Amino acid sequence: MPDCLFCKIIAGQIPSQKVYEDEFCYAFRDIAPQAPIHILVVSKAHVANIAEASSLPDEALAAVIRAIGRIAQAEKMDNGFRIVSNCGKDACQSVNHWHIHILGGKQLSERMD
Ligand code: AMP
Repeated sequence: MPDCLFCKIIAGQIPSQKVYEDEFCYAFRDIAPQAPIHILVVSKAHVANIAEASSLPDEALAAVIRAIGRIAQAEKMDNGFRIVSNCGKDACQSVNHWHIHILGGKQLSERMD
């Protein structure tokens, strides 16, 4: 998608702090971290959000889940972490390219809203 920020990051047109990449997904550090470790895992294929991700092949969906586990291990998040995928206006999604936040490196709040 020509005007998509995350498509440009995946293509290397906008710099990012890459932590992981495979055939289907790309992961990098969030520019405005909300936890000591805050990583975004994005699908290389452009879909707007998790509701639209059902159009992706199963192997692409599985790759994102697998990437989360690998990143958590590489970042030594042995005490745990949280994943979040904001979808649409009510969830305050600000970049319309499906991504999953990985948050950790501290005791997170019990509340999730
Ligand atoms: P969301 O609001 O769930 O769509 O999340 C979008 C995330 O992208 C936010 O946490 C932003 O801080 C992050 N973000 C925006 N621009 C960049 C960028 N250039 N590099 C890394 N993260 C970014």
